[in-house]
Amino acid sequence: VFNHVVRAPEDPILGVTVAYNKDTSPNKLNLGVGAYRTEEGKPLVLSVVRQAEQSLVNDPSRVKEYLPIIGLAEFNKLSAKLICGADSPAIQENRVTTVQCLSGTGSLRVGGEFLARHYHERTIYIPQPTWGNHPKVFTLAGLSVKYYRYYDPGTRGLDFQGLLEDLGSAPSGAVVLLHACAHNPTGVDPTVEQWEQIRQLMRSKQLLPFFDSAYQGFASGSLDADAQSVRMFVADGGECLVAQSYAKNMGLYGERVGALSIVCKTSDVAGKVESQLKLVIRPMYSNPPLHGASIVATILRDKDMYNEWTIELKAMADRIISMRHQLFEALKTRGTPGDWSHIIKQIGMFTFTGLNSEQVAFMRQEYHIYMTSDGRISMAGLSSRTVPHLADAIHAAVTR
Ligand code: PMP
Repeated sequence: VFNHVVRAPEDPILGVTVAYNKDTSPNKLNLGVGAYRTEEGKPLVLSVVRQAEQSLVNDPSRVKEYLPIIGLAEFNKLSAKLICGADSPAIQENRVTTVQCLSGTGSLRVGGEFLARHYHERTIYIPQPTWGNHPKVFTLAGLSVKYYRYYDPGTRGLDFQGLLEDLGSAPSGAVVLLHACAHNPTGVDPTVEQWEQIRQLMRSKQLLPFFDSAYQGFASGSLDADAQSVRMFVADGGECLVAQSYAKNMGLYGERVGALSIVCKTSDVAGKVESQLKLVIRPMYSNPPLHGASIVATILRDKDMYNEWTIELKAMADRIISMRHQLFEALKTRGTPGDWSHIIKQIGMFTFTGLNSEQVAFMRQEYHIYMTSDGRISMAGLSSRTVPHLADAIHAAVTR
């Protein structure tokens, strides 16, 4: 009965790793996947995460019962504080409902389905370009996806005028997806002043902000600085949604820990919204996993562990920033034609190199370097040892 099923293409991002794994070259380099690697090219488990896990294992009172539909209550409370700020009036006034979801992706999906069921405007505007999963997640959640201009290939920076024009002509009430920081794939973020203009425009048109916060603390090394965009919108008293992921900033990728917060106008509304979120979640996966959320709650509740986390987080962010400088210098040394300053200007895990798909294919063929076809490279996958190899490849690709 399944003979008619045609083979689906690999996921454009995860498929890069599939191809990389098949490559037998000793010099192969995977810059496709968005996961942190150490200077030695190894995955990293934060020592504070090990410590939290140890304390969980040592606690004999811990059991493996189901969590409630909305997850671990303490995790939810601490997650809302982390993104909104501990002294946020919205939290104090009990206007924020937070539900534990399956990492960032699951939080986006649950938020999307809630909006499709209960919000009057079904259109969501997402940036052009954006993380490749966004249009699929929101379409399957029941929303209609449109794009707003975001990136200017000419300047390799923000197309701020285009962004304002497109949001300015969006229908009143439309949902707008915003990357809280470290825009993926471009690494280009609005300045604080530009965020303020975006906020004013969106509030004046009753556009509903849906923040995707996948990199808090990972971009600048500061949890507060990377939450600033979200906090500006929360502070004005209006509604917004925020999807949080602990994949990158705690290195909990495979534990699938995230949260969806919906900031409402009143605590009464927040309670009703939460009751409907349960109806979205229950038939989808019943309730979320326990282990990862327990790790996060253990770290966020303990002052010492929290401080240690911020130090380890900053070290990851700093290593990525250092890779940007090393790659930039390596291209300068080689006299590679073109302006490569965007490598040090862009923010977060990725550099949007500006390399085209033929150049990307050439680098894969000749240098065994793997990246997505849009020329996005994960700086976290680089090390001092591999920077020269990448710089040689880029140089060869652009002077071919
Ligand atoms: N949003 C963005 C912008 C991302 O880059 C990612 C991870 N690549 C996610 C959401 C979701 O990640 P996860 O589901 O692993 O938390």
